Amino acid sequence: MNLTIIGTGYVGLVTGTCFAEMGNTVTCVDIDKQKIENLEKGIIPIYEPGLDAMVTRNVNNQTLRFHTDLQKSLDHCDMAFIAVGTPMGEDGSADLQYVLDVAKSIGKYINQPIIIVDKSTVPVGTADKVKDVVASELKNRGVEIEFQVVSNPEFLKEGDAINDFMKPDRVVVGTEDKETAEKMRQLYAPFFRSSMDRMLVMDVRSAEMTKYVANAMLATKISFMNEIANICELVGADVNKVRIGIGSDSRIGYSFIYPGSGYGGSCFPKDVKALKKTAEQNGYSAQLLSAVEDVNNRQKLIIADKVISHFGSNLSNKTFAVWGLSFKPGTDDMREAPSIYIINKLIALGAKIQAYDPKAIDEAKEFYLKDISEVSYAASKYDVLKNADALLMLTEWKEFRSPDFMEIKNNLKSPVIFDGRNQYDSERLQKMGFEYYQIGKN
Ligand code: NAD
Repeated sequence: MNLTIIGTGYVGLVTGTCFAEMGNTVTCVDIDKQKIENLEKGIIPIYEPGLDAMVTRNVNNQTLRFHTDLQKSLDHCDMAFIAVGTPMGEDGSADLQYVLDVAKSIGKYINQPIIIVDKSTVPVGTADKVKDVVASELKNRGVEIEFQVVSNPEFLKEGDAINDFMKPDRVVVGTEDKETAEKMRQLYAPFFRSSMDRMLVMDVRSAEMTKYVANAMLATKISFMNEIANICELVGADVNKVRIGIGSDSRIGYSFIYPGSGYGGSCFPKDVKALKKTAEQNGYSAQLLSAVEDVNNRQKLIIADKVISHFGSNLSNKTFAVWGLSFKPGTDDMREAPSIYIINKLIALGAKIQAYDPKAIDEAKEFYLKDISEVSYAASKYDVLKNADALLMLTEWKEFRSPDFMEIKNNLKSPVIFDGRNQYDSERLQKMGFEYYQIGKN
């Protein structure tokens, strides 16, 4: 099939590349000229394991190309995927301006029947809005062209996006049109070699809702476990043991119940808020979702609070080494990363930060911790420890899992570790003379 992917960010680039890998002819479009120029030169704008090689292979095979010209890209296109951002608007709802701009352009430029597929995360009712915008553009042009609007939310995880896309747990397709459902089935069939059972076709509104509910459920699990961790600390229980104790119940399971420094990233915070807003707009107060957010906002600062209770609230002569800046391992994405909140709080109390992250340092320097002179960076995890008063472990990259603790001890001014991801064995560290703070265990 000839596919146009509009918006070449995390989702658009991965989607386009994976569809090209399966033999489709794909054009990825973006309004960001620099991004497209770089992609044409083989420079990939994001860190995502396995993506570079797959992009190069498909560009060389001429199954994948990049463009800024949407009009040209829509020529001979069977399906146009909308994969632009839906950031949080001022009132907490999803800002649909980019999605609706794209819908307008599609209506302006298409000359043949087309399936418009919404991959961006959008509130219930957005497909209807997209339909109205496209129809009104066609009417202005005085032409009649058949088109369908499908909801096909994306569930990939940054850091494992290629794997998630190529071997999906499920693909959700929202359409009430049988022929369109069949075309979507054909498109996704190569991703399900044994059975199409995991392709879930439903009505558009349920598909739009499914994406928000999935993210809200995952955020709820995280906040629930963080709340339990905080209670464990107060009563002298060890949340690491409690986690295993409850996970062994097959109704609960082990996944996504790790306590930590709270959730971040581009999706959970904005999607929980947008779902809450949707409820509110329909006269319902989503109390559980509000609590999920409140717990998370507090949790993002828990490690900073532990630093303050250890060192006091005047940190003007203190320097902290930070391991990990991205909101989770495997990505350079720093959107809403807990590290930003923790670092800013410590700096406000006078501290200096020496940070290291395997992939996110450029993002930090360019955007999220830009021009903050109190933050310096080093090229290795051991270099940032020199002359630091303590180590703060904030993102559980694999290279931090089993470090040389003697080297850590020899480099730090005092052997203190604050672990925001409960990665280490507290008994071992205590025996080695560390003061070791983690989440949910004293
Ligand atoms: P992103 O910010 O990385 O990328 C969006 C891209 O769209 C940018 O490159 C931007 O320049 C481009 N764009 C904006 N307006 C455009 C236009 N009119 N024409 C062409 N390009 C345009 O965003 P993302 O992380 O890829 O997320 C996209 C959507 O997918 C969001 O709704 C998000 O919630 C959802 N989503 C994201 C993830 C994730 O892990 N990042 C996972 C699932 C779903």
